[in-house]
Amino acid sequence: MGLLNIVTIPNPKLKKPSEDINKDKIKELKPLIKNMLETMYVSDGIGLAAVQIGKNINLAVIGKEATPDNKDMVLINPKIIGHSWRKVVAEEGCLSVPGITQKVPRFAKIKVKALNQEGQLLNFDATDFLARVIQHEIDHLQGTLITDYV
Ligand code: ZN
Repeated sequence: MGLLNIVTIPNPKLKKPSEDINKDKIKELKPLIKNMLETMYVSDGIGLAAVQIGKNINLAVIGKEATPDNKDMVLINPKIIGHSWRKVVAEEGCLSVPGITQKVPRFAKIKVKALNQEGQLLNFDATDFLARVIQHEIDHLQGTLITDYV
């Protein structure tokens, strides 16, 4: 077990944009990714960005309940490279903002480019709940929280 402490508001790290990860450093992230996934599941979260455990790097993990192949998803340096015009509003919670839910508009469909934990390029479409979770995590990497949608 390698549970990590989750950073909560008002820690200033949460408002700071994260930095891209050098492709050569990705292999070294495996133990951190494993611990982030463990921490996320134990905390009953569906996604966790590295900034939420105190590291301002462009890395996020997403739980298998949200993915089409029912596998954990690891996104390194993720970017939204296209999106639907339509947005959907739904309530979101966040492990870094305990006890609060907030209505947040998100694109219904997004096109995502990222690297996985093997350093391979991912290029895929995400819809509905997965699209929402990815947009929430990318928000974290840019220093945006659900409380910014009030
Ligand atoms: Zn969050």
